[in-house]
Amino acid sequence: MSVLELIERGGPRVVEHADLGARTTYRVGGSVRVLVTLATRADLEELGPSIFSSATPTLIIGNGSNLLVADGEHEIIAVHLIGEFESLEWHDEHGAVIVEAGAGLDLPVAARRLAGAGLVGFEWAVGVPGTFGGAVSMNAGGHGSDMAASVTLVRTYGPGGARVWKREDLNFGYRTSALAWPEIATDVTLRLAHGDATSALGTIKQIVRWRRENQPGGQNGGSVFRNPEGDFAGRLIEASGCKGLRHASAVVSDKHANFILVDPGGSANDVYALIDTVRERVRETSGVDLVSEHRFVGFEQVR
Ligand SMILES: Cc1cc2nc3c(=O)[nH]c(=O)nc-3n(C[C@H](O)[C@H](O)[C@H](O)COP(=O)(O)OP(=O)(O)OC[C@H]3O[C@@H](n4cnc5c(N)ncnc54)[C@H](O)[C@@H]3O)c2cc1C
Repeated sequence: MSVLELIERGGPRVVEHADLGARTTYRVGGSVRVLVTLATRADLEELGPSIFSSATPTLIIGNGSNLLVADGEHEIIAVHLIGEFESLEWHDEHGAVIVEAGAGLDLPVAARRLAGAGLVGFEWAVGVPGTFGGAVSMNAGGHGSDMAASVTLVRTYGPGGARVWKREDLNFGYRTSALAWPEIATDVTLRLAHGDATSALGTIKQIVRWRRENQPGGQNGGSVFRNPEGDFAGRLIEASGCKGLRHASAVVSDKHANFILVDPGGSANDVYALIDTVRERVRETSGVDLVSEHRFVGFEQVR
């Protein structure tokens, strides 16, 4: 199936030359040949086979909060889930609470709603601006927890149709999981507990305050590098003298050295070049090879 056939079949669900960079939290970078937006399971079942059978590389995008897309146009089919994939429901089962979240739902929205309903164990996610699909794929985490701590099942749709992944199939590691293209996560199941809503909302407030005080605002993609075993990427970057270092439109944050900010109207290629410089300087000063947390589109994956 060619991209042209997908465009014909998809109608308004398929947008040509879509600005993908604008859909990332860096808000810079290039466009893709087509962006396919799927709002229903019927959409996925109808267009999925055309997407999977295309010779054009494909990318599933959540909120783009861990993506850096190179400047220029990329011959890629990007897929984005909305609508029916943003649901949130829960029920009691043998004393625990089973939460079913659509893969397109935002983590902070879910964290607030669950805490408000007195369901505890997911408050940490309020500060992670991703979707459930992106979070499960990256095993997002923070504040002493991560997705692996509560995920029990993930439902995906791929070339072989619908599939259910048990927790043990997901092979969660530090910011990694076994989920990879062509499997599109559609639903994520969590196991949480009943607790006190006031206390859970208090935790949410504290986390939001901590983030505001310790992390920069502006256009960024969160932590650029994973923390190496027994150390912190931010500390190593600071020790290398890179805090505040600028490369054209990109700058290492003064507030937290593991964040790179980019000027409005700036360039993803500037961000990538600065990531390379920071890695090089840290290697020179401490001998540590930092590994990026980001997923790169149109760039070599920095390893
Ligand atoms: C200000 C800020 C703070 C952050 N803080 C944290 C933090 O504390 N902890 C943390 O872990 N991360 C953090 N991040 C990074 C980011 O929010 C997480 O990695 C998040 O899980 C990415 O989700 P996303 O929907 O934005 O995914 P995207 O960035 O869109 O995609 C990331 C990866 O997930 C894949 N993917 C997305 N959706 C699906 C799907 N439905 N099915 C299969 N694969 C999919 C993509 O193909 C890609 O490989 C932060 C980012 C920012 C900008």
